[in-house]
Amino acid sequence: MSQSSVAVFSWPKINDIALSVADGSMTAVANVEKALSLIREYDNTYHAILSTCEELALEKAKKIDDMVASGEWNAEEYPLLGVPFIAKDNLLVKGTETTAASNMLKGFVAPYTATAVQRLENAGAICVGKANLDAFAHGGSTENSDFGVTKNPHDTGRVPGGSSGGSAAAMALGYTPFTLGTDTGGSIRQPASFCGVVGFKPTYGRVSRSGAVAMASSTDVIGPITSNTEDTALIMSVMSGKDELDSTTIDSDPNEFRNVSDKKSVTVGVVKELLSDAVAPEIREEVEAAAQAYRDNGHKVVEVSIPTIDVALATYYVLVPAELSSNLSRHDGQRYQYSADDTATLEESYEKSRTSGFGREAKRRIMLGTYVLSSGFYDAYYKKAQKARTKLISEFNKAFETCDVLLGPTTPSVAFKIGELTDDPIQMYAQDIMTVSVNLAGLPAISMPVVRNSSMPIGVQIIGQHKKDAQVLEVASLLEGRES
Ligand code: GLN
Repeated sequence: MSQSSVAVFSWPKINDIALSVADGSMTAVANVEKALSLIREYDNTYHAILSTCEELALEKAKKIDDMVASGEWNAEEYPLLGVPFIAKDNLLVKGTETTAASNMLKGFVAPYTATAVQRLENAGAICVGKANLDAFAHGGSTENSDFGVTKNPHDTGRVPGGSSGGSAAAMALGYTPFTLGTDTGGSIRQPASFCGVVGFKPTYGRVSRSGAVAMASSTDVIGPITSNTEDTALIMSVMSGKDELDSTTIDSDPNEFRNVSDKKSVTVGVVKELLSDAVAPEIREEVEAAAQAYRDNGHKVVEVSIPTIDVALATYYVLVPAELSSNLSRHDGQRYQYSADDTATLEESYEKSRTSGFGREAKRRIMLGTYVLSSGFYDAYYKKAQKARTKLISEFNKAFETCDVLLGPTTPSVAFKIGELTDDPIQMYAQDIMTVSVNLAGLPAISMPVVRNSSMPIGVQIIGQHKKDAQVLEVASLLEGRES
């Protein structure tokens, strides 16, 4: 699929860029300079980027070009040679500011690099900047960023989605050949859908969380945002795998992602509960069109039911605040960046730092999380939600007894207007209805873009079985290049 029509620059496929840098027809320095100049030229309008790391990036690029010139290197070790990228600003990149878009971390310079980013850089990729997000990744519009909202490149009056809204907008604009996001409840897939790009949420544990600012540790995962599934597969092949710094990581076969063109006949299950009345008719139509495309290509399409999806949103908004309230307790005004002035006691410093450092949404979620974990309500909320999660997982497993992958929308509507939902947190949470169940079950899923003429982009979601990430990409690739 070609890059969406709003792109200000069209990069070649990632493998072609790496080959061109290897044969000297492109240089890493020129690629980095191009990405930085696009950001300089266009980002005043979109505000997708919070910071760039020009000096560091150029230094890394120069080293790559020198290595290529020396001839003393092995191309196989550098599948991303000289490829610039942008990381969501909740991912640590040593020596660069990492804020998670919160005043709490403003000015915080990362002391080490996230494993996922490090693996990309070891393969020759170069991080050139950090993308905007909802503070601490809480949200679905980037409106919760303490540093200003990102604009949707397809309509600057609309949100780009979130929380990886900056990463999705940057990808749609073509600042770099790929960007990184994190997905705790939909934060890669939903903005990808709103911005018309490919957003992939890997199986939980497939990519190390080490060096990602923690939101909810049992569902957080890092994943790529790209313009096509081939690039996604390449990035995944580099980023995946066991990491001793994250005990929840799983073993990956590095070759798994290299064979994604192996298109066998599959059974696609259309999830009944994901096509509820909450879904806008034009989105339902696109899901039906995708199902038809599979049928036309000789695949089987069946309807499946996962009834617990109906309570997945409520389950998510108990479990995730519970986990994040615990994770955010480390931001106490002593250990990290921000600390309130003029406090007489340690107690007062904790209190003032947390009340003035966190934004409204983080505070709302901390209160919700501590409430559901409190001894009087633990059984009624937290434990019950855990039971619902287990039930949901078993229903997914049952569905996968008859289907290879599942199909549904990514979002109930197209990108909404900036400010439209900010006064109504419940309505805002309701936007996550199509994505959160996938995180609760730890499954891989992708949002594939459908861009129709001048209207806003729509995403179609394909959900796969645990650890069958490559199959998701395989099946998703069949939707590429479709006339819509
Ligand atoms: N929108 C969801 C939320 O606010 C998802 C966030 C995420 O995936 N980081 O929790």
